[in-house]
Amino acid sequence: MKSIVYRSAQDVGFEQKPMPEAGPGEVLIKVAYVGVCGSDMNIYQGVHPRAQAPLVMGHEFSGTIEHGHPTLAKGTPVTVYPLLSCGHCEPCLNGYAHVCNTLRLIGIDCDGGMAEYVKVPVDKVLEIPKTLSLKLGAFLEPVAVGVHAVRRSGYKPGDRAVVFGAGPIGLCVASCLNYFGAAKVIVVEANPYRLSVAQKLGFTTIDASKEDIRARIKDETHGYNADFAFDCAAHPSVQTHLMDVIKVQGTAVIVGSYKKPPEVDLLKVEFKELTVIGIRVYERRDFEIATQILESGGIDFDLLLSESTPEQAPEVFQQLLKGGNTIKMLFKM
Ligand SMILES: [Zn+2]
Ligand SMILES: [Zn+2]
Repeated sequence: MKSIVYRSAQDVGFEQKPMPEAGPGEVLIKVAYVGVCGSDMNIYQGVHPRAQAPLVMGHEFSGTIEHGHPTLAKGTPVTVYPLLSCGHCEPCLNGYAHVCNTLRLIGIDCDGGMAEYVKVPVDKVLEIPKTLSLKLGAFLEPVAVGVHAVRRSGYKPGDRAVVFGAGPIGLCVASCLNYFGAAKVIVVEANPYRLSVAQKLGFTTIDASKEDIRARIKDETHGYNADFAFDCAAHPSVQTHLMDVIKVQGTAVIVGSYKKPPEVDLLKVEFKELTVIGIRVYERRDFEIATQILESGGIDFDLLLSESTPEQAPEVFQQLLKGGNTIKMLFKM
């Protein structure tokens, strides 16, 4: 079968591999679309703390049941909940399996969806409603991150929010805020292509490369500043504004993963009685809500998706490293 294989730092190859054999309790899925995530880019660059070559990456994918599922017939459209939690650590036992002490992921810690077929544990399979395309089905996972970030933040309908970063996660967070009824969503980004997509989706945008971020946000919020600021960029420059654009007793939500620990001004957290909240992946419920959001059709998520073939993978990864005009790249397997 066709596979995209991470071989070593900055070396991803298109290879033919034997089909995986689904054992007891496992399901074989025929992959349709698989997304490239920021964490896949970390693997590609050889800086991911856990991933080991050779590896078939891919934890954001859609496909159809091939065999092995007790109730879903062959051909049923599905995605997976890719978290592999241990089930017996303190967070797992107390209902926080998504922050398991030894959390692993399909496509990072074992072979994932960048292949024609993938085997997964039966309890990770989630059916995609027929009303959703398989292409959008592969985007459920990033939307679930947005759902989790907004629901966990304590955001209330009518609140004003700033989102730093218009990559896939930033735009998913911003879209979820809109879906949940935010009074104002302001997206801050420096990349011109990403800014243009944020504008097409209807968000108020601030060009971080040219504009006075603090003054614009004050202006756009009638002098109040934001109730929430979501850091989806995880760039050190965000920390120079994050605590300033939030009102007194507002909330900073850390969604992106910093490569190095950033400098954070805790004096501002203290003086303004701010709350800082961390976000890690999602829970199963977030996938259900993400499905509802995608099904609603209210947000044109197709604007965010680009498509390539697996044969193009080596060049695609090289280009993604340079940035360019892509929000979310999907391989059509
Ligand atoms: Zn991801
Ligand atoms: Zn655990």
